[in-house]
Amino acid sequence: MSTALIESVLSSKSVLITHTDDILTYHQSPEGFTSQVKGVIKIGDSSDVKAVIELANKCSGSNEAFVIYPISTGNNWGYGSSVPPSDERDQYLLDLSQLNKILYFNEKTGLCTVQPGVTQKILYDFLNEHASDYMVPVTGAGPTCSVLANALERGYGITPVADHFSAVTSIKGFLPTGEYYQSSVADMDMTSEQLADKSFKWKHGPYLDGIFTQSANLVVTEATISLEKAGDGFTSFYMQFFYQSSFTTAYEVVSEIFDKVGRNVGSMNLMDKRRVSAMMADNPNGPGSHQIMTDQQVEKISKQQEIPEWTVIGTVYGAKNVAKAVKAEIKKIAKNRASRLFFSNDLLIEFGKLVTKLAPKSLLQAPRHQLATLEEGMAIMKGIPNQVALPLAYWRNSATTPNKTNQLNPARDGCGLLWYAPLIPTKPASMLSFIAMVRETCQQFNIEPMITFTNFNLYCTDSTIPIVFDINNEKAKEDAKACLASLYEQGLKLGFVPYRLNIEQQENLDTSKAFWSTSNKIAHALDPNNILGPGRYAKGR
Ligand SMILES: Cc1cc2nc3c(=O)[nH]c(=O)nc-3n(C[C@H](O)[C@H](O)[C@H](O)COP(=O)(O)OP(=O)(O)OC[C@H]3O[C@@H](n4cnc5c(N)ncnc54)[C@H](O)[C@@H]3O)c2cc1C
Repeated sequence: MSTALIESVLSSKSVLITHTDDILTYHQSPEGFTSQVKGVIKIGDSSDVKAVIELANKCSGSNEAFVIYPISTGNNWGYGSSVPPSDERDQYLLDLSQLNKILYFNEKTGLCTVQPGVTQKILYDFLNEHASDYMVPVTGAGPTCSVLANALERGYGITPVADHFSAVTSIKGFLPTGEYYQSSVADMDMTSEQLADKSFKWKHGPYLDGIFTQSANLVVTEATISLEKAGDGFTSFYMQFFYQSSFTTAYEVVSEIFDKVGRNVGSMNLMDKRRVSAMMADNPNGPGSHQIMTDQQVEKISKQQEIPEWTVIGTVYGAKNVAKAVKAEIKKIAKNRASRLFFSNDLLIEFGKLVTKLAPKSLLQAPRHQLATLEEGMAIMKGIPNQVALPLAYWRNSATTPNKTNQLNPARDGCGLLWYAPLIPTKPASMLSFIAMVRETCQQFNIEPMITFTNFNLYCTDSTIPIVFDINNEKAKEDAKACLASLYEQGLKLGFVPYRLNIEQQENLDTSKAFWSTSNKIAHALDPNNILGPGRYAKGR
């Protein structure tokens, strides 16, 4: 019933898709969630957002009641992808991917206003066309993902500013009543460029833009982001720690780098042997397996690929002379502690690349592969989007082998993936107990324990644990969910609190607590009929 009504309010630029085959891709969920979505409203003009919101309010409480759930590119893989939290009313996705214009860019300051459908690749191509050396705020999710949506999800990236929402200076869009929202500064500014709004994050009065992130209080139609430059001194660094007991030393090195030269380095990743092995080699148990690698298998891969117990990857940004001094400081800190340290602009690496390029294809397979992965890793740290991290989602995929020359899409390709992404107290003892908990729990559920710590600064670290499984194996699916639940529960007792949740976890938040009840009071005031993204971060529960 609601279908005809929705169609009646759309302009010719937008379209409602309801045919089962045509919305199939939106139902695909690597998390194993089930979608009840009835249709997808593909928005071609932002004024249609207002029309749909107003209609949803008008229909509220009637037989035609429906709710809408906005997505930008819908690639929230591992957290829900395009699947909304459940609701008993008819659910429609509001697909904003066709709103993909870059509305503003200032070459001098790096301020850039994007619509929801601007992907990492679209922004990269745009910056390239403008011969600009500003970087795309890339993530491991790759070129097809929305820059704006990742910031709204408060996602993290690899380049500075790693915390993507901190780089957002302005948000505009439609409230759940259909009213257009912009900040107090934008309201007062009578110029068309509205530079005051674009450049000043905090506006007046209570800070409101934040309530539109990890929430469903606004359909965001544009956001301004301040982009950063890599600087001509850019270099990434790799440290290897080969001893089994070297975690504490590795983390001490990371901390000391932040302490001494923190302003000139981006976030630093600290990865264990199994995580790096999954990046460098195929699953020795075969893709559809539901068993973890034996220690012998890990040893074999790490011997072949020279993978240490712990790998630190980081980046130095800034002007040449500054970067030179930072590089010297990092060398000093790592001396006698890291088994190996190399920088991407070292002559040895440049020489290695040349040799492997010139050598016949049949020779130097291992170094060729290592250097190719290294180069892709380096590119992403320079703000060049690529698919280097995506094959991880295919580690146990029995149906599809990732081919990076094609566009990868873990949802479309039938991968199984859930993320466990807790904040970890930055104390070696806490981190060691986290490592032990992850290894023990994952093993219990036949999930490969792959550990990455992303260190943002001296005081904030999160860990991303990919729970990768074969989605076509019911037992594996069950185990994956149980593994996540167990990690979640045990983790909370030890002080490991996830910074981001999947749609099922969002539904189970304790709304009797002051935080979520306050958040829901705000949501209710803005959306009395609860028509926009109900259930998102416990909205309306
Ligand atoms: C291998 C791999 C690596 C990954 N690496 C990273 C990483 O490094 N960092 C990271 O953060 N994530 C990472 N991810 C997780 C995820 O894929 C990304 O965060 C991705 O950017 C989210 O999808 P999206 O950009 O398409 O957002 P969408 O799915 O479009 O949006 C996410 C949510 O935000 C809300 N939303 C979106 N647009 C709007 C709007 N316009 N108005 C109001 N609300 C809106 C909706 O609730 C939506 O469900 C990774 C995933 C994989 C598989």
